[in-house]
Formats: sequence, C-alpha cells, structure tokens
Amino acid sequence: MQIVSIIVVLLIFTIGLVVGSFLNCLIYRVKIRQSFLKGRSYCPECKHKLSWFDLIPLLSYFELGAKCRYCHKPISCQYPLVELAVGLLFAVAALVFEPAIIYFGPVSFFNLISLIYYWFIISTLVVIFVYDLLWYIIPDTAVFAAMFFSIVFYASRFFYELYLTGSANFEILTNPFLAAVLAFSIFMTIFLVSAGKWMGFGDVKYAALMGLVLGFPDIVVGLFLSFFLGAIIGLSLIASKKKEISSEIPFGPFLVSGTLAALFFGKDLIYWYLGI
Ligand SMILES: [Zn+2]
Repeated sequence: MQIVSIIVVLLIFTIGLVVGSFLNCLIYRVKIRQSFLKGRSYCPECKHKLSWFDLIPLLSYFELGAKCRYCHKPISCQYPLVELAVGLLFAVAALVFEPAIIYFGPVSFFNLISLIYYWFIISTLVVIFVYDLLWYIIPDTAVFAAMFFSIVFYASRFFYELYLTGSANFEILTNPFLAAVLAFSIFMTIFLVSAGKWMGFGDVKYAALMGLVLGFPDIVVGLFLSFFLGAIIGLSLIASKKKEISSEIPFGPFLVSGTLAALFFGKDLIYWYLGI
C-alpha cells in the first residue's frame, strides 16, 4: 500500500472515531430520552460541561487516565471501545465496498453511495450492540431508521440501474425483501414456540432488518454465524459460572456481530465453505 493510500485509510479511521464519539453520546441520550442535537456534551456523573479537549476520541480517555477531569469519577471503557470499533469498521467498509477511494482508482458513483449507506448501517448496528448489551433492549428507533434507509437505498439503486440500462431489475428489490421475510419468519417462530423465553420481540424485528441489509445469500451466513457465536459464548459463560442456564443473555450483540461478519465476508465464507 502506498503512503497516500495509508493516509486516506487513517483519515477514514479518524472520521470513524469522531462518529463513534457521537454514537456514545447518542446511546446515552437515547437512554435518558434527551435530544442529542441540542446541548453541549457533559459528564454523566457530575454534569460538568465538557470542553473540546475533553472530547478528542481515544486520546482524551487516555490523557485523562479514564477519569473525569472535573469530578474524577471513572469513565466507562465503552467510550474508547466504541470509538475504536467504529473507526476500524469504517476503514474495513471502505476497503470492501469502494477500495477505489483508497487506491485512487476510478470511483463509481453508486459504490460511493453504497459505502455511505453501509457506514450509516454500521453506526446503527454499533448503537444496537451497545444498547442491548447494557440494557437488554434493541431500540426500535435504530431498527426502524435503518430499515427506512435500506428501503430508500434499494429503491434508488433500482431506479439508477433502470436509468442506466433501460431495463427493470426487480431482483434488487425482491432479494432483500425475501431475505427479510425469511429471517423474520424464523425468529417469529422461535419467539412464538418459546413464548418469548428464548428471544425477545426486539430480536424478531432486528432479524427483518438483518435480512434487508444482507439479502441472499449473505443472510444465511449471518444467521448461522449469529447462532454459532451465541451458542459458543453462551455455553462458555455458563461453563465459567458467570451465567446460569436460566439467566438472560442479550442476543443483539451476537446478531450484530453476525451481520457485520456476513456483510464484509459473506461471499468469501460461502466460497470457502463450498470449496471454490
Ligand atoms: Zn464528571
């Protein structure tokens, strides 16, 4: 990789860090039902307003030694971890969905739009991951916003191709729709059979979003990875006596991890599995 390409990757990583910092604030304010658009950031413990130098992603956390500058209460490691995760995911998404912006190749307009769409989806998924991990709830706002943007994205892709080629490719619309119906039906069945004990209705709604984002065949990979990961981590938590069989383990983080893995490597995993 050339030095300019490395600089572009670092730039995208930095944008991801800033978005991650914003998402941390969003997660907190959605929880306490406060508008995230107005008002300066403040310490959740002492409510002291934060200056710009308290809000530099990653760096502020380490410079402050994981403590608030004003009240010295500890700052959760959620803050740097979310920033770092979004930074890395943004960079990986650029490498996967439009490497031309990194290698200075001819940038395709639609790939660029796709990349922006996937950056939005990644941000929403990170919010869902943290929210479900902390409070065992998948926020409807996040799921419905992502569904709405997915529908707008596929519709514009459909009309863009229609405009370019003059023929209507309905597969662009039916593929993600059928994947959403499949994932929703599987989860709805599990939900009904277990009377809501094995998974919550939030997971059922999320499954529809997962189908919409991944489409076929990636949804199959995403679901498989989610259940596989959930089983392995669930069983090791029970084995290490951190959780009991009857205790609740949020499924959202596994669903999000499965979705992201399938989004980036779905096709590769299928080819590898089929031995092609
Ligand atoms: Zn404080």
